[in-house]
Amino acid sequence: MTKFFGYSKVLQAENLCGFKLKRRKKWRKEILKEVHMNLLSLNLTETIEKFKKINLPSYRAKQVFAWARKFTDFDNMSDLPKDLRARLKEHFTSILLASEKELVSKDGTVKYLFKLNDNNLIETVLLKQSYGNTLCISTQVGCRMGCVFCQSGANGLIRNLTAGEIHAQAVAVNALNGGNLENRKITNIVLMGIGEPLDNFDNTVKFLRLIGEESGLNISMRNITVSTCGLKDKIIELADLNFQCNLALSLHSPFDKIRKQIMPIANKYTVLELTESLKYYFEKTKRRVLIEYALIDNLNNRQEDAEELKNLLKDLCCHINLINLNENKNLKGVSDEKALEFLTILQNLGLSVTMRKKSGSDIEGACGQLKSKFVKDSDAIGRDSK
Ligand code: SF4
Repeated sequence: MTKFFGYSKVLQAENLCGFKLKRRKKWRKEILKEVHMNLLSLNLTETIEKFKKINLPSYRAKQVFAWARKFTDFDNMSDLPKDLRARLKEHFTSILLASEKELVSKDGTVKYLFKLNDNNLIETVLLKQSYGNTLCISTQVGCRMGCVFCQSGANGLIRNLTAGEIHAQAVAVNALNGGNLENRKITNIVLMGIGEPLDNFDNTVKFLRLIGEESGLNISMRNITVSTCGLKDKIIELADLNFQCNLALSLHSPFDKIRKQIMPIANKYTVLELTESLKYYFEKTKRRVLIEYALIDNLNNRQEDAEELKNLLKDLCCHINLINLNENKNLKGVSDEKALEFLTILQNLGLSVTMRKKSGSDIEGACGQLKSKFVKDSDAIGRDSK
């Protein structure tokens, strides 16, 4: 409803002004942005400012700010008068993500398939560990990076998520697990879901600021990890912001030639350039960098791969996370014996390395698998999945 109201307002205004097409399009975009703002995209100061603009008192802004972070939609903001709730619907989009599917793994991992306001689907995964709950969040619908082992990028990029949509995943999962602002059910966040976070840089940065707000979920930067396939320039930009978040690089091979076979981004930046940017990140933030390394059969787990890794990473303060690749139609993982063998070689070379346990492999654990299965299943039974 809010959408239709806002849109007709735009059309009316456009007709009155008789703008030329190009200017009209730009203006329409700006007005739509203005009319349909997601409350979870705004910090407290911005919420108060926005309320002032639409002639609502700031104490109401504070109430609404808190309700939104409790994953409560306008109709259930029980201490607000009805006419105020109606006005909010005119000016803001719904903060709710519809949970289309929820799968629980034997190991406790929960995978959510959320539907956005425009019917696009994204995945969010909650991993329950002894030291707390880690939430793996999506930053885009689809991805344009084209890594051959990844289901998320199979259909390219559809669109970036807004900061509010990235934020909403944390707010939603916290509430769905009985959490609130005083008793949070999420301890850590990893931006490793669908999408390349640094390809949606501004919204990712805005999200990092929002999630750390004292009056919000208040998750410390040190408990957040941003993962990238290797956008060197953006790594440097992030380092210059001097946030204290962790950075993970999906390396998967120390050789440019092999990386190029599986990750198109390797045609743009070499492993040496990437390592230099990681050193810069460490210098700026003093945060040890993570190197993600998926073991792929017949590709990246020979003695020479280990030796070249040692060579490449020798001056970098980093830790290597090995993980066995989730099988897909293009590539296979390795046997447990081979994985252990490679881990031992790296350890003997003096590298800091651990083997990461796969979580949720019985529930379409790899990023993008659940969405793709859901779409296929829905098609198979003749139902519109979106
Ligand atoms: S692995 Fe990450 S960067 Fe690569 S295609 Fe998948 S989502 Fe994109």
